[in-house]
Amino acid sequence: MIEAINLVKKYGEGNTEVNALNGINLSVKKGEFVSIQGPSGCGKSTLLNIISCLEKPTKGEILIDNIDISEENDGKLAEIRRDKIGFIFQSYNLIPTMNAIENVMLPMMFAGKDDKLIAQRASMLLEMVGMEKRMNHKPNQLSGGEQQRVAVARSLINDPLLIIGDEPTGNLDSKTGSAVMEMLKKLNEEGRTIVLVTHDTVVANMAHRVLHIKDGQFIDNQPGQEV
Ligand code: ADP
Ligand code: ADP
Repeated sequence: MIEAINLVKKYGEGNTEVNALNGINLSVKKGEFVSIQGPSGCGKSTLLNIISCLEKPTKGEILIDNIDISEENDGKLAEIRRDKIGFIFQSYNLIPTMNAIENVMLPMMFAGKDDKLIAQRASMLLEMVGMEKRMNHKPNQLSGGEQQRVAVARSLINDPLLIIGDEPTGNLDSKTGSAVMEMLKKLNEEGRTIVLVTHDTVVANMAHRVLHIKDGQFIDNQPGQEV
């Protein structure tokens, strides 16, 4: 699902140059659940942004579902993002002026499908995450855990093969966080590939593999050292 070879990402130049990634190699198979840990500033968000087709590497190669995304133009990257990838962020990133069901529908509206079909699929997903009684509520009328459940439903609207999470439980209490993790585990058992960045060791240990980044490099991906 993901093949990254010797990824390098530099920001800035001269005395403001930062090497955010310093030669990342990563191979994630379809159906795997991988979590990534590391100190602040080590390159986790940069790596997720590249996997999510939001940024391009300075050097190196990255294939998502066998497509070499380092070679694609922005239009094609937006299409790959829409069709193959679902994101869940620490801060939920719901649109405040839209209610829950409208938020869930939005990514599929961009895919140009029939409105009625989109609404049906969105309400099915909201039911799946236990939010069927809150479909018409706006984000500020929902708790953090409820907003994150809406965000999980939204990430699934286009039926992505790959789910990317950046601290998806970071703002949740441990009970709500466990509920969100249970949902992710179930999605993984159904065959979806999951890559999560998390500080939480309990969350990380739900993954098949835990990888550690330091200064833009994995420090543990030699064979035999994988968890
Ligand atoms: P993490 O997610 O592990 O905290 P990031 O990937 O956000 O780390 O950042 C890695 C390094 O790259 C940091 O030193 C950060 O300041 C720098 N960085 C990230 N994004 C940018 C950017 N858009 N412009 C300049 N520097 C950046
Ligand atoms: P996290 O809490 O996930 O580690 P950060 O706060 O490091 O995230 O970064 C959030 C976003 O801000 C990143 O996706 C990155 O693109 C951007 N960013 C991080 N550091 C910098 C920087 N020094 N300059 C510009 N943008 C940055």
